[in-house]
Amino acid sequence: MLPVVALVGRPNVGKSTLFNRLTRTRDALVADFPGLTRDRKYGQANYDGYQFIVIDTGGINGDEEGIDLEMAGQSLQAITEADVVLFLVDARDGVTVADDAIAKHLRKQNKKTFVVCNKVDGIDAVAASADFYSLSLGEIYPIAAAHGRGVEQLLELTLGPL
Ligand code: GDP
Ligand code: MG
Repeated sequence: MLPVVALVGRPNVGKSTLFNRLTRTRDALVADFPGLTRDRKYGQANYDGYQFIVIDTGGINGDEEGIDLEMAGQSLQAITEADVVLFLVDARDGVTVADDAIAKHLRKQNKKTFVVCNKVDGIDAVAASADFYSLSLGEIYPIAAAHGRGVEQLLELTLGPL
C-alpha cells in the first residue's frame, strides 16, 4: 500500500502546482485566481524515488457557504483519507484568518501534519517561515513548488529516508 499524502490549505497557496510537480502532469488546474479545483483529485507520485498517492484539494477558507462549502468538504474528506497531511501556506501573505481556521481543525486531528511554506523563491525562506510557528503545528518546511526548491527535502522529512 502506497502512503497517501493530502495537500490542503486555502485557495491560491500553490497546492495544484505542487500536485503537478509531484505527479509530473498538467492535470491539476493551476490558475492565478483561487478555487479552480472544486473536488479532490488523486495522482500517483514518483518523485526522487518516493512513491505515494497524492490528493489535491480545492481549498478551505474556514467560513464557507455554497460551492465553497462543497470544496471545503472535499478537503476534510482528503484529510480523513490521508496518512500524511501537507498544510500549504503562502510565504508572501503570512498567516491569514483562513490559515488559523485550518490549523485549528488540523490540531484536533490525529494525523501527521506538516506546515509547508510555499513560494519562498526570491525571498528569505527563514524569515518568511517564522510567522507560521504561531499555527502551533510544529516545524515549518519552506519550498517553492513552482521551481522544485525544497521539495525533495520535504519528502525526505515527511515520508522518511528511502
Ligand atoms: P492552489 O489554489 O492552492 O491550487 O494554487 P495554484 O497551484 O493554482 O497556484 C496559485 C498561484 O500561485 C499560481 O499563480 C501559481 O503559479 C503560483 N505559485 C505556485 N507555486 C509557486 C511558487 O513556488 N512560487 C511562486 N512565486 N508562485 C507560485
Ligand atoms: Mg488548485
